[in-house]
Amino acid sequence: MQNLRTILHPTDFSEPAKAAWQTACALARFYGARLVALHVVFPLTAAYTEVIPTEAIEQQIASGRQALEQLEPTEAGLAVEKRLETGDPVEMILRVAGELPADLIVMGSHGRTGLARLLMGSVAEQVVRKAPCPVLVVKRPIS
Ligand code: ATP
Ligand code: MN
Repeated sequence: MQNLRTILHPTDFSEPAKAAWQTACALARFYGARLVALHVVFPLTAAYTEVIPTEAIEQQIASGRQALEQLEPTEAGLAVEKRLETGDPVEMILRVAGELPADLIVMGSHGRTGLARLLMGSVAEQVVRKAPCPVLVVKRPIS
């Protein structure tokens, strides 16, 4: 953590992810780190055995790309790199973290499903277990 050069922020555009985004931006600014925002589109075909029309997947990718475009840094003058990948979110987050390589992953404790009774969602939990670097799991916005 002494050399916090690259921060990876995986997002599903949920409220908890937005809280993590604020923290990621503040840390990137403070450390002068490279900041990479990543959204992983999980194609519906990966979850079901039935064949899903290509247009449906294209639509998922297009809306993911649009949401990523609209993600603005919460700190003035901060440069952000944006990446969109398709596949299993955990696998892709870990792969990108290794490739960059990321010195820190900043993510939400929950996401779109947001089951509050669980300490963490399944994506957060598996990333914490398997990440090649420290993971900061943000539970609520900084005040
Ligand atoms: P679950 O998905 O297990 O039903 P959940 O949606 O409440 O539970 P997670 O999916 O673990 O919780 O979300 C926690 C964090 O993981 C999010 O705040 C976000 O930072 C990251 N994340 C989740 N899904 C994705 C995704 N598809 N792409 C990138 N980051 C993601
Ligand atoms: Mn989720």
